[in-house]
Amino acid sequence: MLKVGHVVTRPGRKLGDAPVDIPVPEELETVPGIPITSREVDFYSREYPLQRQEVEHAADMEWALSIGTEAMQEYGKEHDSTMEPFYALMNSSGDLEATGTPTGEDVTELIKFKARELGYLDVGMTAHDPRYIFQDRKSHVKYTHAVCLAMEQDFVETQSAPSMAAEHGHFGTYEIQSPLGLKMVDYIRSLGYQAQVHGPSHDAVAIPMFVAAGLGQLGANGQLLTPHAGARCRLQIVTTDAPITYDEPVDYGFHAFCQVCQVCVNRCPGRALMREKVWWRGVEKNKLIYKRCRPVMARYEGCAICMKVCPINKYSAKVVMEHYVQTGQVLGKGTHDLEGYTLHPESSEKYVYGYFGPGELPKFDTGFFDIPRGTREESTMDEYIKVIEGEDPVLKKPEDDEALFAFRDRLREVIKGEGGYRDPAMF
Ligand code: SF4
Ligand code: SF4
Repeated sequence: MLKVGHVVTRPGRKLGDAPVDIPVPEELETVPGIPITSREVDFYSREYPLQRQEVEHAADMEWALSIGTEAMQEYGKEHDSTMEPFYALMNSSGDLEATGTPTGEDVTELIKFKARELGYLDVGMTAHDPRYIFQDRKSHVKYTHAVCLAMEQDFVETQSAPSMAAEHGHFGTYEIQSPLGLKMVDYIRSLGYQAQVHGPSHDAVAIPMFVAAGLGQLGANGQLLTPHAGARCRLQIVTTDAPITYDEPVDYGFHAFCQVCQVCVNRCPGRALMREKVWWRGVEKNKLIYKRCRPVMARYEGCAICMKVCPINKYSAKVVMEHYVQTGQVLGKGTHDLEGYTLHPESSEKYVYGYFGPGELPKFDTGFFDIPRGTREESTMDEYIKVIEGEDPVLKKPEDDEALFAFRDRLREVIKGEGGYRDPAMF
């Protein structure tokens, strides 16, 4: 039996449920939230501002749309058409005037109650930290307070990941939370203040603000671990000028627990998760290797194995930490029930599929990880460089001119925003 260092008390899963006590063993205590060197966060945000995935990795995002199974591609189109009206409404939400009369009183509890009443799993308040806003969205964000809203994704669907059912759980949660975010904006306006909804198409990196608001800690899988549902949450921020009180970051023990657990690291088919923590942009974390994750996600139904196999997702922090206090063991580690997963055939039919139990991982050749890199402009240039490298320097052929014109046409499509690629923030 381990010594308990402190106990975290959080609201129950649903409005009206009893609060939940989570014992944090002394040996897992680190810091509230995450170790951070603020001056380094300042430096990186100033000199190397964050870019949205749709900008920095636009080339592989476009590629991913074409590489998924037929069912994934069909569902992607269906989801886009469901979301399209919401993107426009979300993007203009910050311009709406208040509809009520402000009293000047602190409205934190009113907003939290409304969020829980609407069905959010958890809600917390913090400053909307400008250091985490994406470079091309800096002028879009209007208000300085952040209401952080976590919406739970369906458990059963997620447990089948990677699968189309899990993808329905993933994207379906965006479809649920989008109108609810607009309702939160309307509610805050009715209190006499202005508000703006951000997400599911984010204007900033959301996790640091959720950590600051005490809603969880960053896991080794690169996702926010919430106490009730682990990483099985979709995040959304509503910014506002309403008078609210900020929450404090919390030490749930996850920062140290991940170093003991390592289940997601062991089970990742792409070997994209790192065992050791590094300092990255002023924060101590297990850094996910994007280029090893993306090819797996794109080909195998969104992957999400690192979400599915996390014991905190499966059993909750209370159950996992109580078990750890009693036994010093990670609940479920090494079992088929927690760690097993099935990869379904992907569209090229070149790569492995089937069931993989604890200790078993699929193998991929290097070609599997060779995907378009960077922005669409950069990958267009990469393609043309390959053509030039393959040219006969003595014999100029008509194909060389054709390749040059194809390069020009492709650049035109990228720069003028033509073609099939759609960026949700730009609606
Ligand atoms: S989504 Fe899949 S490939 Fe990517 S980090 Fe998670 S387990 Fe690894
Ligand atoms: S599976 Fe284990 S190591 Fe990975 S995020 Fe969950 S608790 Fe942390």
